[in-house]
Parts: sequence; structure tokens; C-alpha cells
Amino acid sequence: MSGEAILKVVRLNKSFGGLKATNDVDYEMTTGELSAIIGPNGAGKSTFFNLLTGYHKVDSGEVYYKGKDITNWPPHKIARLGITRAFQISNIYPALTTYENTRQAILTEQNRTLNFFTPAERLAKKETLELLEITGLSQHANMIVGNLSQGDKKRLELTIALGSKPQLVFLDEPTAGMSGEETRETMRLVQRLNQEMGLTILFTEHDMSVVFGYARRLTVLHQGTIIAEGTPEEVRANERAQKIYLGEEA
Ligand code: ADP
Ligand code: MG
Repeated sequence: MSGEAILKVVRLNKSFGGLKATNDVDYEMTTGELSAIIGPNGAGKSTFFNLLTGYHKVDSGEVYYKGKDITNWPPHKIARLGITRAFQISNIYPALTTYENTRQAILTEQNRTLNFFTPAERLAKKETLELLEITGLSQHANMIVGNLSQGDKKRLELTIALGSKPQLVFLDEPTAGMSGEETRETMRLVQRLNQEMGLTILFTEHDMSVVFGYARRLTVLHQGTIIAEGTPEEVRANERAQKIYLGEEA
């Protein structure tokens, strides 16, 4: 299934007042890609994800998923197509365990809820344990989520996002606030989800050094505009990108 266009964005624009947060952005992803949008704080990365997932309405331009025009669809309809966005802390129930949170995400996807006729413990047990194994949370399955470390909470948010069985995953700064070691672990997990589960993944990052070695293609956003695109090596060698990261260009 690799190689076909899963996402296509055409001349996307979004302003907040007089500020252009997204400026004529064209972007395409093929199935199986693992790529990153990078750029300093305020570059427009989160806005781009908000437009792709229906959380903001576009001013102009189009978004296509597998050839279907999904521009300005509401978030729940976009999610149902197999597009998910991770690290939305609101999905977590802090008083429940890691296992219970993950199982709830899977049950929601299957449109099943706990009821009187199926013993609760048996519902989706196998899928839940498998998913926790994949994301490396098995040893914390019975921990109350409020007690998880910051890194493990982020990992749980990713686990919950995967409960909906997505094909296209957007991760908005998945390593924000993490230590160096947690960052590497999280990026290795993202890499495995791409390689072993076949998920097409786009993530954002403000620190250019984090993405090297993980993303195959980088797109640099600056003031809402794509100013460079290519392999990590190409972007690293790009003068304009260097200037922006060295702070020589506001
Ligand atoms: P990034 O994620 O790259 O840090 P954002 O997409 O969050 O950048 O922001 C891009 C620009 O748009 C910033 O100048 C930010 O202040 C502005 N912006 C983002 N969301 C809103 C909003 N809801 N209302 C007004 N301005 C916004
Ligand atoms: Mg952001």
C-alpha cells in the first residue's frame, strides 16, 4: 500500500485577525511516510494540524484524504475516516488506570460500552493488552494515570489515539517537555508505529535536532509559509532554514 497519496493539501490559508498563520501551504504525503513539520514557536505548526483535523475552519484552500475532499469537515467526521491527532490531554481520565483508559479508547472505537450482559473485565482485554505492549506501557497497566510520569502520560495519549485504529496520525510536538532520554524513547516508538504498524505519521517539532534520524522528510514552516523541504540533510544545508534556527531572521 506504500506510495499512494494519503494526504494532499492545496493552497491552504488561515489568518487570525491580520496575522497569516497559514500562508498558501501546499503539502502532500504518501502512504507509509514518517515526516515532520518543523519551525520555531509561532511558525504555524499547530494551526496547520488544526486545519487538517477540523478544529479550525480554513479561509481558503483544500484538504484531501485519499482523494476525498474533507475541507472544513467537523473533527468527529474526520476522525471516523481514520485520521487521528495525538496528545490531546482531554482524552485521559486521571482517576482511572492506564489499562482502563486504553480499553475505553478501544471500546469507543468499537462502539461498545460496558453493559450488564458482558462481564466488564473480558471486554477488549486482548486488544488492550496488545496495544499497551506495543507502546511500552504494560508495566504501568494498573497504575492510576494521575501517578504516571510526564513521559508515560504522553505515551498514554499516543496509546489512546491508537485505540481508534487510525491510518494517518498527526503528533503535535510529541516530545514537548521531555528529557533527552524520554525524547529518544518516544521517537523510537513513533518510528516503530510507522515501520511495524504501517501508520502514516506527521509530527511537528520546534527543535530541529530532535527530528534528525527519525523523519525521512522535513518541511520547514516560517511565519505560516513553507520555506524549505527535503531530507534532513538537505534541510540542514539550507541557508534560509539555518538562518531561522540561528535566530538571524525574525
Ligand atoms: P506553532 O504551533 O508553530 O508554535 P501556532 O500555529 O500555534 O504556531 O501559531 C501560529 C500563529 O498563529 C501565532 O502567531 C499564534 O499566536 C497565532 N494563533 C494561533 N492560534 C490562534 C488563535 N486561535 N487565535 C489567534 N491567533 C492564533
Ligand atoms: Mg504548536
